Amino acid sequence: MRPFAYQRATDAQAAVAALAERPNAMYLGGGTNLVDLMRLGVVSPDALVDVTRVASGTVEDTADDGLLIGAGVRNSDLAAHPAVRRRYPMLAEAVLSGASGQIRNMATVGGNLLQRTRCSYFQDVSKPCNKRQPGSGCPAVEGDHRNLAIIGQSAACVATHPSDMAVALAALGATVHVQGRSGTRQVPMPGLHRLPGDEPDRDTVLEPGDLITAVELPALPPTIRSKYRKVRDRVSFAFAVVSVAVALDVADGVVRDCRIAFGGIAHVPWRARLAEEALRGTPATAAGFTRAADAELAQARPLPENGFKVPLARNVLVRTLTDLVETS
Ligand SMILES: Cc1cc2nc3c(=O)[nH]c(=O)nc-3n(C[C@H](O)[C@H](O)[C@H](O)COP(=O)(O)OP(=O)(O)OC[C@H]3O[C@@H](n4cnc5c(N)ncnc54)[C@H](O)[C@@H]3O)c2cc1C
Ligand code: SF4
Repeated sequence: MRPFAYQRATDAQAAVAALAERPNAMYLGGGTNLVDLMRLGVVSPDALVDVTRVASGTVEDTADDGLLIGAGVRNSDLAAHPAVRRRYPMLAEAVLSGASGQIRNMATVGGNLLQRTRCSYFQDVSKPCNKRQPGSGCPAVEGDHRNLAIIGQSAACVATHPSDMAVALAALGATVHVQGRSGTRQVPMPGLHRLPGDEPDRDTVLEPGDLITAVELPALPPTIRSKYRKVRDRVSFAFAVVSVAVALDVADGVVRDCRIAFGGIAHVPWRARLAEEALRGTPATAAGFTRAADAELAQARPLPENGFKVPLARNVLVRTLTDLVETS
């Protein structure tokens, strides 16, 4: 690993200023993704600016009954927080489905959102990869893409976003608070992560030096129920092959509201707006759930080795909606 300097920032402005001074520096959260990528030679920052004591580690109620989660909150603390477990169970479930207890104890909310793809070519510096080295090519299109995208991908990159937490946040319609060089701003989710297009090296809409300071969750109606379901190759310590986060509000057998996002199928946590539209105001039945899933997945353009994800995503969504109705 290339030698690097280390500094601990004392506040958000100082962290942003530190990166402005050293353009090849990076923020350090728990380090559970970044340090691995440094060891592999995928990234080689000349300095790490530790932001774990800058980005707030607290979870607080907002004035409009939402929650404000500091970017420095550890994944384990987020999943265990009573307000998260009670009001946003799918977020707690999503976080607990990721990584291992030890990694969740280290990993932060900000770092989790910005973790990089697990495409094996991206992590192997002996191989070309447009995301790591723009213009070098995408061997995954012709090579190993079983776990990669079926929707929204481009010829330049077919990677998927690996975060489980981000899928729940996209379904919830969270807002990401950002401190940049020219002040603070808010970025909606979905909207933080971007599709690859012809710039797959850019995972998000963030600008160089932007610091995530918090994530805000909107209030949910008390009648809404939510669930995260993840299909993976091993029962733990494995990324999603397909996952879904669903919040559902049913009254008198009719879907009043729903919010759905998929993981493991796209370069972004994929908000399923077409499925949501197809469900709202219709009877909460298995046939309706299947029609809604098909409406969303009609956009899928799978590669030769990952066509199985289309029926898998449909079944996971239908099963999760059905579970939510049966347990309400
Ligand atoms: C074996 C293993 C299995 C895993 N399985 C899963 C899984 O199933 N599901 C899942 O979702 N995740 C999984 N993970 C990934 C894990 O969740 C991430 O590594 C972790 O969430 C990253 O958080 P961190 O704080 O350690 O980030 P870091 O590694 O510190 O940083 C990640 C990136 O975010 C940037 N960054 C950090 N904080 C900020 C900030 N506040 N503002 C701006 N930029 C910032 C860093 O510069 C870096 O680019 C797994 C990891 C491992 C090692
Ligand atoms: S899918 Fe994306 S990350 Fe993977 S090799 Fe192709 S360009 Fe690189």
